[in-house]
This record gives sequence, structure tokens and C-alpha cells, in this order.
Amino acid sequence: MRFDYDLFVIGAGSGGVRAARMAAGYGARVAIAEERFLGGTCVNVGCIPKKLFSYAAHFREDFEDAKGFGWSAGPLRFDWAQLKENKNREIGRLNDVYEQLLASSGVALLRGRARVLDPHRVRVGERDYAVEHILVATGARAVVPPIPGAELGITSDAAFFLEALPKRALVVGGGYIAVEFASIFNGLGVETTLAYRGPHLLRGFDDEVRQFLAGEMEKKGVRILFNTRVLALRTGAGGCREVCFGDGREEAFDLVMFATGRAPSSRGFGLEETGVKLAENGAIVVDEAFRSSVPSIYALGDVIDRLKLTPVAIHEAMAFAQTRFGGRPQRMDYENVPTAVFCHPSVGAVGLTEARARERCSRVHVYTTAFRPLKLTLTPREERTFMKLVVDGATDRVLGVHMVGPEAGEVVQGFAVALKGGATKAQFDATVGIHPTLAEEFVTMR
Ligand code: NDP
Repeated sequence: MRFDYDLFVIGAGSGGVRAARMAAGYGARVAIAEERFLGGTCVNVGCIPKKLFSYAAHFREDFEDAKGFGWSAGPLRFDWAQLKENKNREIGRLNDVYEQLLASSGVALLRGRARVLDPHRVRVGERDYAVEHILVATGARAVVPPIPGAELGITSDAAFFLEALPKRALVVGGGYIAVEFASIFNGLGVETTLAYRGPHLLRGFDDEVRQFLAGEMEKKGVRILFNTRVLALRTGAGGCREVCFGDGREEAFDLVMFATGRAPSSRGFGLEETGVKLAENGAIVVDEAFRSSVPSIYALGDVIDRLKLTPVAIHEAMAFAQTRFGGRPQRMDYENVPTAVFCHPSVGAVGLTEARARERCSRVHVYTTAFRPLKLTLTPREERTFMKLVVDGATDRVLGVHMVGPEAGEVVQGFAVALKGGATKAQFDATVGIHPTLAEEFVTMR
């Protein structure tokens, strides 16, 4: 059979673009189909605009803190339209960068929705392509709970394009997006309530981190309702959203945002009809080499629902391209993947939580510290930073590094290298700190 392409990628997000470019670099003839924007969720309605908004939300405190250092300025004013316009311009620039990267790699970009017709044929628009391999990198989309009036709420997709900031916002959920957007809204001056059905935010993170973060977010003004379900929404007076909570209370908000998880985008473009096996939640089932139940069809990134993080999708893409087209088989290593949550204060973590470590090891040593960062000592702000090391008592290996505080992601990234290298607590102790920094606490805990 003569193929038009050696690799046909569906979805030009972080994983798809990286796989396409690398495969092309190895000499494969590659096409990539995209029906929406280049760069996927991360660039357009995820990591990048979220971090820009997070910076914007930090400035309120920064201006306040500056007073303690002798600075004064006129009355503070925030212009949401200006932020949105500047953000949109930057995202537009990144879309162009992605387009240029694909072109310079020799990848054919096909604009439109792809449909898998059979294991070796894909349709985009009016044209059918014969392809040797198909890579599905279609990501995930926000899901909202099936409750009456759910359509009156928004998801983070729309939050990036709000006409105006609401006066009172309710964020529903307790995961990454919920705590990040609650922090953004709160920092930008919105009266913010976060309603979470469980007793602690950020399931999967270390328990002390989860408790500490909630306390600090509350100090900053976010009202957190734990063990609280949202049962229904309806339109109230003046167009507000009347929210019925599980305990029978009702309350009005100007905006309700659901941050209740994301589901793999795997249906509606011919995968199941072609024999690709999906898990119950829609995730494409793949083996260690990202091969689905149909041998010519592969998948990676959020659509396989392993670790829904951009850098993980990129690593998966590199492992896939090297293995398939580079002649250098490589397995994706999911151990010690660092992560950061850009709430305020931020959270950074790599390795095992204390609870997980106790399940795996007979002896676990834990080191924690909580303190007021030096930068705040000249300000009235009472925010504290929390840091924690989890160590295997038998081998002395550091199993987990956890932080709640300023730039936690920046701090933890470096320690992730140490964990990847199998660093011991003795090696942490033998490392000289950089003074005065927050990060030095990780090498001075005894
Ligand atoms: P998460 O899975 O992190 O959190 C979903 C939250 O919604 C959980 O608190 C969950 O509760 C709650 N929830 C789920 N279903 C319902 C329901 N029916 N009613 C009420 N609450 C519900 O998803 P997100 O949407 O926050 O983010 C999606 C993924 O995107 C994350 O898993 C993360 O991997 C990635 N991401 C990464 C970021 C980063 O790296 N900084 C930033 C943003 C997203 P429960 O815990 O009880 O299940």
C-alpha cells in the first residue's frame, strides 16, 4: 500500500506537535490535523494564559508589600480588558510560533476536523489520506456535573475570555484548576467562594500540604466551603446565579465556574468504529509504547489519562517518536514527575507523599518547617511558607519534596533532578544552602 504520510497526528497540542516535529526530524513524512488553535489547551486555554492571569493577580499583594519597603503609588486600578487584550496578543504570537515550528520541521498542517476511517485512512474536510501510523493527541475537555442548571455555569475555557470580572464568583471543585482560578479571581478583587465536595483540597497531594494551603488561601480572602455539594443553579434577580447547596442553603453569585475535572477527547471521530479500545472514562487504552488496540494507531497526552500535565505529554511524545522513527526505543518514566499548582500561595511537589511513603516503606522520616518568608518581614502580611521532606529511613533516600509558598514550582524543579538521581538525605545535608533563600531550607532541615 502506498501511503501519503508515514505519520498522521490528530491534534496540534503540546504532545502532538512535539511528536510530529521529532518524527519529521527523523525523516518521516508527517501531517498534523487541527480543528481549533495551534498549541492546544496549554497555550490557548491552560498553562500559559493561566500563569499570565496568576501573575496579574499577584500584583495586588506586591503593591501592598512595596509600602513596607518605602514605596508609595497612587490609588490602585486594575483593567481586566487590558489584561485580556495583552494576553490574547501573546497567545496569538505563540500560535504563529507553533505554525512556524511545524513548517520549518517539514510537517504538513491540515486545518480541520480529522476522522479516522480505518486503521490506515484519515479524512480531513473533503480529502482522504492513506497513512501508515496515526497518533491521536486530542487532549481532554472540561466536564461539568450533571445537575439542573449546569449550563448557567462556565468552565475555565470561558474564564479566559470573560467580558467583565464578576463581583461574586463561585468556583466548584477542589483540584488544580479550582484552586488556581479561585486564587486568580480573589487576587483580582472578586469576592471568591470555593465549594468542594471533600474535606481537603488537591486530592493526591501530601495531607499537610493540603491543609496548609487551605489555611493560607483563606487568609488571603478566599472563602472555602468544604464538604459542600452544588445541587442546582438557576437564574436569579438581575441575571445572577442562584446556587442551591447540598445543605439546603441558597446563595447568589454573579459567576459560577465549574472546575470539576477533564475527560479525554476520544469520541466522535471514528476511533471506536475502527476498533480502538477506550476505558470507561473515554481514555484510549495504550501499551508502554503508546500503541492502542489497533496496531497502527497510537495515542498520548491527556487523551490517555495517565498524568494530565503538559511536560508529561511532551516526554511521552519524545519517547514515542524516538522509539517509532528514531531507532532508539525509549520508555516513558512516570516516576518522580514534579508538579506545581499555581494557586496563591503556590504548591510544588515531587515524589511520594508521606502517606504513600508509609505504605511502601517500613520506616519513614519526615522533616517539616513552616515560617514567614524574609520578604514579608517588612510588611503586615502573615503568609507562611511550608516545606516538607519525606525520607526512607532504611536507605536514607529522599522520597518526597513538598512546598507551599512563593515560587514553589521554581524551587521544586531543581530538587526533582536530585530525586531522579536517587539523592539521599545525607547528600541534601552535605549541600551548602544559598542564603538567604526559601530553597535553602530543604538542605538545612535536621
Ligand atoms: P482535577 O481532577 O485536578 O480536579 C477535579 C476536581 O473536581 C476534584 O476536586 C474533584 O473532586 C471535583 N469533582 C469531580 N467531579 C465532581 C462533581 N461531579 N461534583 C463536584 N466536584 C467534582 O481536575 P481539574 O479540572 O482541576 O484539572 C484537570 C487536570 O488538568 C488536572 O488533573 C491536572 O492534571 C491538569 N492541570 C494541571 C495544572 C498544572 O500543572 N498547574 C493546572 C491545571 C490543570 P474529588 O477530589 O473529590 O474527586
